[in-house]
Amino acid sequence: MIEIKKMFLEGAELDFLLEIVGRSVIMFILILVILRLSGKKGVRQLTLFEVAIILSLGSAAGDPMFQEELPIIYALVVLFSVIVIYKFVTWLSSKSTLINKILEGEAMVVVRDGMFDLKHEHDGDFSKMEFFSELRNQSVEHLGQVRMAVLEIDGSMSILFYPDAEVKYGLPLFPDDYKRIISNQDGVPVACMYCGQISPHIPINQSCPRCQRENWAFAIDTKRV
Ligand SMILES: [Zn+2]
Repeated sequence: MIEIKKMFLEGAELDFLLEIVGRSVIMFILILVILRLSGKKGVRQLTLFEVAIILSLGSAAGDPMFQEELPIIYALVVLFSVIVIYKFVTWLSSKSTLINKILEGEAMVVVRDGMFDLKHEHDGDFSKMEFFSELRNQSVEHLGQVRMAVLEIDGSMSILFYPDAEVKYGLPLFPDDYKRIISNQDGVPVACMYCGQISPHIPINQSCPRCQRENWAFAIDTKRV
């Protein structure tokens, strides 16, 4: 049996509860000041480096809120040190593309000319499922609409579209159309379900000339709305 009362109350001192409120207010204000000093505008998209900074800030800010033996000055020193490191490393990486690459990674071409780019296929960070959902989020119905899509270092996707007149047949990305087919249907091109290669019909030997995989779906050429 878990003892709820023991978990919540054992060892708690009434005076310290009030102090915790005061400590929390102070730490909260401090962390706001520190985040303003960092110069970031918001946190919608963070690079890995920034996530590391936020984690260290969070831990340093949280502990003194409720640990009696921790004077707030310790946390203050940690917060300022982390911000100084952040500023210094940001400055360094603005001076050197190599350091920037090591810290933040590189933008990666995901779609080129209406097909998945296969150059990074064997990299650890190449996740097709993630690309599918990111492209769908941006209302891309099929790859034939996309001239180029780039995965940015903060995880967002930048997309250049073909104008309506140049939209071609492409691999559908939504589940209703992304279905494996076995036989051709007259006049409908097919798309390789792995790389997006388009073929006027399923090749005789069944496998994709570009990636050698064997699953095909009917291609579509709907315009963007
Ligand atoms: Zn293929």
